[in-house]
Amino acid sequence: MLASPSKECPDPLDWSGLFDRLQKSQTLAAIVLCAWHIGLYVARTLVEQQLNDRAQVPTAWGTCSVCGHRLHSKGFAARQMLTLVGQVHWRRRVGRCPQGCRGSQSIPFDTALGIDAYQQTSVELVRLGCLLAVFVPFELATWLLSQLSGLHVSDDSLWQWVQHYGQQAMGQWTQEVERWQHGHAPPRESLSDEVAAMPLLIAADGVTVPLRPQSGTPRGKTRWREVKVALLARLSHRLNRNGKSVTRLQQRRLVAVLGDLESLKPRLQLEAVRQGIETAPHVVWLSDGARGFWRLFDTCFAHMATGILDFYHAAAHLWQAAEAYHDGNPARTPQMWFERLRHQLRHGYVHRILDELHWLIRSPNTAASTKPILQRVHNYFKTHQAHVQYRLFKHQGLPIGSGMVESACKWLIQQRFKGVGMRWSEPGLNHLLALRVAWVNQRFDALFAQHSLALPCISPNR
Ligand SMILES: [Zn+2]
Repeated sequence: MLASPSKECPDPLDWSGLFDRLQKSQTLAAIVLCAWHIGLYVARTLVEQQLNDRAQVPTAWGTCSVCGHRLHSKGFAARQMLTLVGQVHWRRRVGRCPQGCRGSQSIPFDTALGIDAYQQTSVELVRLGCLLAVFVPFELATWLLSQLSGLHVSDDSLWQWVQHYGQQAMGQWTQEVERWQHGHAPPRESLSDEVAAMPLLIAADGVTVPLRPQSGTPRGKTRWREVKVALLARLSHRLNRNGKSVTRLQQRRLVAVLGDLESLKPRLQLEAVRQGIETAPHVVWLSDGARGFWRLFDTCFAHMATGILDFYHAAAHLWQAAEAYHDGNPARTPQMWFERLRHQLRHGYVHRILDELHWLIRSPNTAASTKPILQRVHNYFKTHQAHVQYRLFKHQGLPIGSGMVESACKWLIQQRFKGVGMRWSEPGLNHLLALRVAWVNQRFDALFAQHSLALPCISPNR
């Protein structure tokens, strides 16, 4: 093929120019890049050849959807598309109704190729662009795409791709939730026996994102809204270098929703089913003190899960009590009292904390202004008594800090949506978030095609 390239290339001048450059290239890098460039020409030529050859095969025409007449060929028409190997051109037959019915135009060859009427970019390229946009801002993503592929795509096109596929991902979720609510069990993700025997952790947190006050205009004050994020993972343990057991998350999945807990709830429940909540040997819920999350726990998971209140948030409540309470005793500064209480909390003596707070609330020596604070903290621990049994949790090998979900939030939201000067429209944020979540959950590629669109390993050495 390379021996007679000029026969296959539409522009022989390009070929000879390229081969000339190849000959004259000095450094290894220059030779490689030039050969790569030639490779792209070859690839494009192969694609165009395939398309034009296949388009010659006689077309089986269907019938007009309006009047039922068999469609007639109106001859060949040109089509072009931007692909990973550059702009490709081909000609294929277009059919129409002999009666001239409107909307009867049919192009079976395009359908066979899996392309839409107005599509301008091939899906393997769109996927790459969306993949970059999942991690970096749009302008940077288009620049990286041009560095990687040599193709120039506008920020606007990339943005449109993300909107299109993000919307598709959201539509799929809605459909899955509806199907599930109508009694169709979602397909469970396949887990190895080893992973299936691990406890399932569900943790939730919220993080705010900056939105534009109105769509279509960057003016006005930023609106901050919360994205609710839930993490689902299997817990495993591993000994670190010091012989200490550390928790590791396996099969990590995230659910994220810009909106209230009511919109998170069905998606989280659905994901829990997909992650095998019904057969997990132990289910653990972990979150901070935010009331909404505990209501969600009560309605959805309390009957089957151990609830754990994040230790650091619980300790922060103890500090509120310690800081408010001053009895002037130099042997009991707020710091000293707090440390004692925290120690008791960590080692499972919450009943002693409750007794002490109760006693102080009734004591005539406690300042009247302090009592409401102590009462509030007392109520808090009374409510969460079952969720602060940290000695037991540690004994069971369960985590007591929600750091894992906090770092997931940071990664999922903070890193991409809270860059300097970033402000989002609601659909814009939702669509990109959908792609980012799909990527984390290893469901990104399925949005684009039934088969893998990742570049094959191209080294001839493999
Ligand atoms: Zn017709």
